[in-house]
Amino acid sequence: MTSADIIDLRSDTVTRPTPEMRKAMADAEVGDDVFGEDPTVARLEEKVASLLGKEAALFVTSGTMANQLAILLQTRRGDEIIVSAGAHCAWYESGAAAALAGVQPVSVGTDGLFTIDDVERSIKPSFDWYPRTSLVAFENTHNRGGGRVWPRAQLEQVAAFARGRGLAVHLDGARIWNAAVATGDAPAAIAAPFDTVSACFSKGLGAPVGSALCSTRERITAARKLRKMLGGGMRQAGVIAAGALHALDHHRDRLALDHGNARVIARIMGEVPGAVVDVRSVETNIVMIDLPSLDAERVARQAAERGVLVSVFGPHRLRAVTHLDVARTAEEGARRLASAVIAANGGCE
Ligand SMILES: *Cc1c(COP(=O)(O)O)cnc(C)c1O
Repeated sequence: MTSADIIDLRSDTVTRPTPEMRKAMADAEVGDDVFGEDPTVARLEEKVASLLGKEAALFVTSGTMANQLAILLQTRRGDEIIVSAGAHCAWYESGAAAALAGVQPVSVGTDGLFTIDDVERSIKPSFDWYPRTSLVAFENTHNRGGGRVWPRAQLEQVAAFARGRGLAVHLDGARIWNAAVATGDAPAAIAAPFDTVSACFSKGLGAPVGSALCSTRERITAARKLRKMLGGGMRQAGVIAAGALHALDHHRDRLALDHGNARVIARIMGEVPGAVVDVRSVETNIVMIDLPSLDAERVARQAAERGVLVSVFGPHRLRAVTHLDVARTAEEGARRLASAVIAANGGCE
């Protein structure tokens, strides 16, 4: 099997820029963005701020940097922040919230969602000996929650409650574009209740690099300085910003296709003995596959031998993610994965 035959369902970050995207990048007008002189970065920041209904945006290297800037901006050392169980900002950012902002995360809820009650019970009273609770981080769609989309009403109610209690509210919208396509809501409507919103260009949108942090002009000015402090000031970044702009213009609507492909994978895997998939919970481009009596690592290795790559998400859990580069091969990927599960389960193919 050559690498071209491999169907890579590990993540929506594995996409390569399309020829049209590469052309847009090659043709990008650039300048030194640390001097504020890159016109393509400026265009991208204006566009994403407007799409998310915020005053300003900052182009950053990664979703991690966007989330951590939001935390740095709105907390003090020793604070506590409330996050969803399995939140990216606590699970996948190398302990940055603790190491850089000096805050401790407390996890609430299930499948990425939580309630007013969850927040209320987690806010610490203001005695000397408690940490100060200062921020609530939402994630929509939720990665470890299997790409779950927050119901709009619940999102708005919980965010309004947190704000009412004087907490900052941040939305990790790495996949806000998927949430918007899945619900038909405008990205700005989903972002509206939040003080800060991060969004990725290098996930399902298929750009090679970059995320944005969106907020008020004042916070983004402060974030620009913190970005430089973290080593995230980039020079002729218009080359990569052009990829992100191209993605925003051309790759948002097609996410519906990825969502359809994820449902196809869910249906196929749901029928495989030994695999458990909650088909109804597959709302976007992520499929969680539980293998209650099998070793997920071993099944992933056997799947790789059959030419399909998936992520191991727990001792008995695999994750498959659809994206631009598997638009036509996702179903075949599911068949190869099914074959690996059947073999691991002791069955014949
Ligand atoms: C991927 C992702 C991020 C950012 O990841 P980077 O690799 O740092 O760009 C943030 N939040 C969620 C929910 C993600 O899935």
